[in-house]
Amino acid sequence: MNDVLILLFFLLGLIFGSFFNVVGLRMPQKQPFANERSMCPDCGHLLAWYELIPLLSYAVQRGKCNQCQRHISILYPVIELSAALLFALSYIKTGLSWELPVALLTVTLLLIVFVSDIRYMLIPNRLLGFFLPFLVITRVIQPLDPWWSSAVGALMGVIIIALIILISRGGMGGGDMKLFALLGIVLGFQKTLLALLLSSVIGALIGGVLLGLKRINRKQPIPFGPFIVMGSLISYFQGDFLLAWYLHNLI
Ligand SMILES: [Zn+2]
Repeated sequence: MNDVLILLFFLLGLIFGSFFNVVGLRMPQKQPFANERSMCPDCGHLLAWYELIPLLSYAVQRGKCNQCQRHISILYPVIELSAALLFALSYIKTGLSWELPVALLTVTLLLIVFVSDIRYMLIPNRLLGFFLPFLVITRVIQPLDPWWSSAVGALMGVIIIALIILISRGGMGGGDMKLFALLGIVLGFQKTLLALLLSSVIGALIGGVLLGLKRINRKQPIPFGPFIVMGSLISYFQGDFLLAWYLHNLI
């Protein structure tokens, strides 16, 4: 493990993280995100270069727009820091193997889903469609053991979420189902099941806390995507450990 490379991936994640924010916020609204300068969504104040430095700019401006003093969402620095940590973790876990592009693609997809779903309760089809071929190709180059685990995982993800949609009528949506098809390819069937289990547990815990604190009420729909993101990341990076622990202790 090379310390310089860990730092490099951390910094790379930090830079990409601010881009994930932009994509997650603009893609569902069909806004272009490539060649447009960033501005304050409230007063239209164009951001100077030093206001675009990830994390640092948020800290320096104390979470407010320089011009209109409107609060900048905590989501921005959270995503930037998460991307930095997860990019570094991807390298630490996979090294310079063919699994590294799978890890980086998965982290990228999940963070953009997180932003988009928490903001709009929507996982754009265009986003999933964009990542699908890349995830398939990298999984063909670096297959799971057994290789068909990806196909079974994708199929299982779709079927289980479809059943949940039918039974719960509203808890989850088609976006969640399609996302699980992609996750199945990456994770394989065991870790897909684990991701599903973890996201339900995390969702129940966070939902319970938010209800307890009266931040949400019972009728208010909350997006499930962010819980899927957390559950899948834990399953991808710690799944082997958790599954081994489970098989050893509970069976
Ligand atoms: Zn402003």
